[in-house]
Amino acid sequence: MPKTKKVGPTRGLGTRYGATVRKRYIKVITELKRPHKCPNCGFVRVHRESVGVWKCKKCNFTFTGGAYTPNTKLGAVARRAAKGLPFEEVNKEAVVESATEEETE
Ligand SMILES: [Zn+2]
Repeated sequence: MPKTKKVGPTRGLGTRYGATVRKRYIKVITELKRPHKCPNCGFVRVHRESVGVWKCKKCNFTFTGGAYTPNTKLGAVARRAAKGLPFEEVNKEAVVESATEEETE
């Protein structure tokens, strides 16, 4: 049996930064390390190349996305806006929610 404690992705951080911050960090890091689906070939082989840059190991498709996840609610709104589509029906709560999500505990 390994004598190390089960601390998940926060191993190395120890007791620093406080429980709330570490909890948030776990949420972000697990999402970040999870393989994501490629919008080009559909394979779940997308890994983060850099902050906001995502790359598919299957088809080498590189695209930009959120810093920690390839797709963000805010990004969806931005894409619609870029295409010139009306985005009134995109509920504004979703945007507000994603902006304040990290504040609620
Ligand atoms: Zn791909």
